[in-house]
Amino acid sequence: MQQFLNSLLQQRKQDNLYRIRQTHSSIQSPILSINGQAYLSFSSNDYLGLASDNRLKIAWQDGAEKYGIGSGASHLITGHTLAHQALEHELALYTKRERTLLFSTGYMANLGVVTALLGRHDSVFLDRLNHASLVDAAKLSLAKMYRYSDMQTLEYLLAKSTSNHKLIITDGVFSMDGKIANLPKIVELAKVYNAWVMVDDAHGLGVIGETGRGTVELYNFGVTEVPILMGTLGKSFGVFGAFIAGSKLLIETLIQLARSYIYTTALPPALIESVRKSLAIIIEESWRQKQLQGLISYFREQAVSLPLMESCTPIQPIILGDSITALTVSKELYKRGIMVTAIRPPTVPKGTARLRITLSTLHTKEQVDRLITALMEIIPNH
Ligand SMILES: *Cc1c(COP(=O)(O)O)cnc(C)c1O
Repeated sequence: MQQFLNSLLQQRKQDNLYRIRQTHSSIQSPILSINGQAYLSFSSNDYLGLASDNRLKIAWQDGAEKYGIGSGASHLITGHTLAHQALEHELALYTKRERTLLFSTGYMANLGVVTALLGRHDSVFLDRLNHASLVDAAKLSLAKMYRYSDMQTLEYLLAKSTSNHKLIITDGVFSMDGKIANLPKIVELAKVYNAWVMVDDAHGLGVIGETGRGTVELYNFGVTEVPILMGTLGKSFGVFGAFIAGSKLLIETLIQLARSYIYTTALPPALIESVRKSLAIIIEESWRQKQLQGLISYFREQAVSLPLMESCTPIQPIILGDSITALTVSKELYKRGIMVTAIRPPTVPKGTARLRITLSTLHTKEQVDRLITALMEIIPNH
């Protein structure tokens, strides 16, 4: 086996796809401490700057006083507390859906809902850019999987499908592009071809839409248009975990059938209390979202001569093409004390390796200026 593993890893290195973990020793914030050095980071999903908020910390501590540390069991045994119950209720109000169900991670929420709803006689339609967890969910469901890269293809695939059930799944905001999905067209096609729609809004929730309720708010889509909504609690919410929002019937079905819900330990109640605080802050402090929007506009104005993508979200990738260039630029930035992750295949399609810049409410304009100045120097013939 050692030999096999060595050759696997050797190949990754040759392809410039070898990944390493950057260890830091600070709170999650725009400044990370690595080996005692301060780095300016543009690589977190903590869009609203809540991951290091003191009020969340206090809520966590109070939660620990009240409930202890571990939840001790799965939700269907003795792991479901009043804290979980309250958060599910509050998230239902927030997403304007009848009910929600907490999952330990977004990955598990996606696996749980797709495998609960689909089987081998069904079909699932995924955008080519969808998050890996959705692809894995589709595979695990045993449904026929179709990938589309534009709306014409989606329509063609839907039209010729004769499956019992059809489910279209899209990211709300594509995690590596920052683009917002064409939900109006997807919803229209779903209606025509009698398909269901699921939106994974991991990167939209808290950020997109008039009050930050995500891509479904942007298009004013309720449970009729988007019956299955997935949200994560580790990005804008700054904590950890995920949920599915939908009708009472959908949630009740998931409680009975979603294996990644049933067969796992419930999230620690103290963590849940921290998420509840986070949700209250997101609702109360709408300036966080506004300030972030301002920073996104500022970044795009200043970086106009760089190869930006069409993105109005905090995800602002710079496409560099091959993996080596992306890695080189990322390393050069690092030498200058700036952290931006190079994203390479298979996370993104071949030939589209990129820097994935993410902005947070906590970044200052001066920090954005510093990034752009460095990018202008490093990126060849921009
Ligand atoms: C992060 C992410 C997930 C996974 O969520 P976790 O809670 O981190 O497991 C799922 N879908 C998308 C689009 C994501 O960006």
